[in-house]
Amino acid sequence: MVLRGVVGRCPLCGGGGLFVHWFTLRERCPTCGLRFDRKPEEAFFLGAYTLNLGLVLSLLCIDLFLYGLAEGEVIGLPPWTLIVGAVVIAVVIPLLGYPASKTTWSAIDLAMNPLDPVEQAEALTHAARDQR
Ligand SMILES: [Zn+2]
Repeated sequence: MVLRGVVGRCPLCGGGGLFVHWFTLRERCPTCGLRFDRKPEEAFFLGAYTLNLGLVLSLLCIDLFLYGLAEGEVIGLPPWTLIVGAVVIAVVIPLLGYPASKTTWSAIDLAMNPLDPVEQAEALTHAARDQR
């Protein structure tokens, strides 16, 4: 389920086409009707932001570690390349990871809190409506 989210697919059915464009997730999966923002009053996608931030900080730590090795001439990389790498990581990775962070967070939430019968019925209703 989480792997489906990591690759940007619906965590419940594995269906695609979840995004209107890169930064806009549909309200529901077009295949199975799963509602992605299950708790809009609780800032549901704050978890997605945290996942994305964790990824960027992890990559920056690796980059900083390599920078230390490069400064100490342990590895044969010019240190400026790692500074450029850090800027690229800080700017590009959050943008690239944004869609997958949302679907991954949806998958984690779905794994921790399975759909209740009301949500299952709503998903089926929306899926049936969308397929007409
Ligand atoms: Zn689905």
